[in-house]
Amino acid sequence: MKKISRDHCIYAMDPKNTPVLHSSPGEQILFETWDALEGQIKNADEGFGKLDWSRVNPATGPVYIDGAEPGDILSVHIDKIEVESQGVVICGQGMGVLGHVLDGNATRVVPIVGDMAHFSDTIHLPLNKMIGVIGTAPAKEAIPCGAPDDHGGNMDCKEVREGATILLPVNVPGALLALGDLHAVMADGEIGVSGLEVSGSATVTIDIIKGKNWPLPMIINEDHVMALASHEDLDIAVEMAVANMVKYLQDAGFSPCDATMLISLAGDVQICQVVDPKKTVRVVFPKKYL
Ligand code: CA
Repeated sequence: MKKISRDHCIYAMDPKNTPVLHSSPGEQILFETWDALEGQIKNADEGFGKLDWSRVNPATGPVYIDGAEPGDILSVHIDKIEVESQGVVICGQGMGVLGHVLDGNATRVVPIVGDMAHFSDTIHLPLNKMIGVIGTAPAKEAIPCGAPDDHGGNMDCKEVREGATILLPVNVPGALLALGDLHAVMADGEIGVSGLEVSGSATVTIDIIKGKNWPLPMIINEDHVMALASHEDLDIAVEMAVANMVKYLQDAGFSPCDATMLISLAGDVQICQVVDPKKTVRVVFPKKYL
């Protein structure tokens, strides 16, 4: 297994980024990752005042995957996510759904004990470890790691978890995969602007899919296939994600009307997050009907 240290991090997915590692399809890679604040907050006394905002949302990488050509699909299976023994959650003015209402900033350091996050002495939350930022290089313009888009990025989707496979576009030779921003706990919406941000590592197995024109990004797990889309306007993000799932079902042989009816009956429209520069929506469809 190859390993990339978190010292190799980027702040934008960029076709001009220099790869830190070359990998072959089928190979397993461990990405050591920073939390979304690059480890700058280690205790609750260290508030926002001292934060260097140029060092947020780092992603580890990028990795050049040999044989990945524009038009291919990069398949990233998430084998394992490990997190360190404490995470950070923040909220404050100008951030999140109620940022215009809040009149102060708050930082909370949350110990992680076993499979539980100790929010307080009495409230212990089960971990749902996920990868917040994962993406490939866009074709032309760089996109900051804090933003989600068609290339992936900061989608903050809690379904990007152990056992799932995320499918991303290959826009440039080698794809240039990078990931980071692990969350130990996060709920759909991420309404306060942060999950339980935590440093750790993600071990993935990368493959290349050729000859498919699927709408990306997608996630596949044991039971479901998911189509994702991001847009500044949540209504438009919903429309884009539904259109993506219709396209995928058409590829599987359904007519547009049958696909629409099936999604209406069996495909859940769920919100990943509403706090990043674009909002991200997923349509979750049961594999058993395919
Ligand atoms: Ca994030």
